Amino acid sequence: MTIETRTTVEPRDIQTVEFECKKCNKVSSWPIGKITQPPTSCECGVPHSTHWMSPGGDTFTSITHLLDAIKRLAAAEAGEHFRIRFGVNGIEREMRKSS
Ligand SMILES: [Zn+2]
Repeated sequence: MTIETRTTVEPRDIQTVEFECKKCNKVSSWPIGKITQPPTSCECGVPHSTHWMSPGGDTFTSITHLLDAIKRLAAAEAGEHFRIRFGVNGIEREMRKSS
């Protein structure tokens, strides 16, 4: 038998946002309340810093809007008559019969 745990996340559950460089694997993490725009390059430093995105480009703009939406939804939730949740991959476990 397989049991899948259903997991959902509400905007107010989101505390940090992380960016991981695919080149050097450095992870940069920011509190959601302190970040308004995504970093445009890795913090690994000159001359090895990796360019991630251009300011004003589609990816930059989309992430900026997403960060704003998460903060607005987290703050607005208390006054709304609904909750919004996002499902994330659950944990699947094989359950073995004990005898
Ligand atoms: Zn890097």
